[in-house]
Amino acid sequence: MGRDLRRSGRRGVRVVNSGERRRTPVRIRYLLLLFASLALMWVSTSEPGTDKSDLPENRSEITDEMVPVKSSLDPPIVPEIRVGRIKRGDTLYGILSELGIDDVSIMNVATADVEDVNLSRLVAGKTYKVITVDDQIVEYQYEPDDTRVVSIMFGDSEPDVRVSSIPYEIETLSLSGTIEDSLFGAVEKIREKPSLALDLSEIFAWQIDFFRDLRKGDTFTVLLEKVYRDGKFVKYGDILAAKFINAGKEYSAFLFSGSDGGRDYFDREGGSLRKQFLKAPLRFRRISSGYTGRRLHPVTGRIVAHRGIDYAASARTPVRSIGDGKIVLKKKDSVNGRILKVRHNSVYSSAYAHMRAFASGIKVGTRVRQGQIIGYVGKSGRTTGPHLHFAMYRNGRYVNPGSVKVPRASTLAGEKMETFRFIRDDRDALLKKAGTHGMVLGEAGR
Ligand SMILES: [Zn+2]
Repeated sequence: MGRDLRRSGRRGVRVVNSGERRRTPVRIRYLLLLFASLALMWVSTSEPGTDKSDLPENRSEITDEMVPVKSSLDPPIVPEIRVGRIKRGDTLYGILSELGIDDVSIMNVATADVEDVNLSRLVAGKTYKVITVDDQIVEYQYEPDDTRVVSIMFGDSEPDVRVSSIPYEIETLSLSGTIEDSLFGAVEKIREKPSLALDLSEIFAWQIDFFRDLRKGDTFTVLLEKVYRDGKFVKYGDILAAKFINAGKEYSAFLFSGSDGGRDYFDREGGSLRKQFLKAPLRFRRISSGYTGRRLHPVTGRIVAHRGIDYAASARTPVRSIGDGKIVLKKKDSVNGRILKVRHNSVYSSAYAHMRAFASGIKVGTRVRQGQIIGYVGKSGRTTGPHLHFAMYRNGRYVNPGSVKVPRASTLAGEKMETFRFIRDDRDALLKKAGTHGMVLGEAGR
């Protein structure tokens, strides 16, 4: 960076300095405007959100105060905002220099002490904003990640660098849906995004095999956060609670900080939803072309007869180990194709066949974690099309994976359990208010 500064900086210094003398008033006016809007923001955020009975008096008082500041800015300043995108190879120096900032100022910016943001390390693909008044830059904004924004203000003295959090609005709402032909279809029907279906399948991955267990008439209810920015939907926040009724059986999940401080989902009784084995060896996803994502997967009638469960899935779908364990078999033969066997403990093991490829690093003896990708769906061996043949064994004998009962990983106790009960009942009440079009329950800034 230092070398770049010396090499190509001189013109920038001269041009900007001369411009600066001439245009300083504009910058001051911009700063005034900024202060005014910040003050307004402060006023609006400090309003109590719910109780509006005592507001009118205060509000008119504050407005009166603000008006003179605004009206003194004459003619009105119209800052121009341009949005750019960081390209590979872009440097902070290059961008600012092109905007007419002098080298000394750039150096001050680059060496500014701003928390843990490395200003000279730009991430390609991220956007930045340049705010100009009368063609002169007054502010440069860059978002190093999804949570923070760096603002560099250019005035008549040293640039002022500050980091603030991106203002998101969070809406909490409760909604429910009914499955007719698929979970994705049900989510679509209530006008939500497919990722909500995936999030639900991850929460209940130890309870429900989303490929095979879903039935027409199953229902789900979620209490979730939606994150907005400037009124536009950005992403889903946390799913605070969820209820899934599958084939008449109810499963509940409540997000809570467990004993180790990490956040996790717990059932109504405070038991962790995590179990020793995942219900399915594939991560639920929208099925790609060749399979109708709108339909439930056909459940073969041959489950026990051929000692395994067939998961129809497109080739290359990642296959995951249903539990922690050790690879005890890795081979390719004419019947099973590429097959892996994982030994989970002295009693249980699982097998995965017909794979297109093994995941890299998978060998006999390799330790694998629950959910770890061990291979990819294919049609190797004796098979008519791509699918995963999955089997479980208890003491070496085949068992129907659906019938394997495993104890829950952990249960909340003591004070934690008391806090959990309180949160659970609160969220449970909100879940019950759910409608099919979503019910907004409250908003909070973040
Ligand atoms: Zn099979």
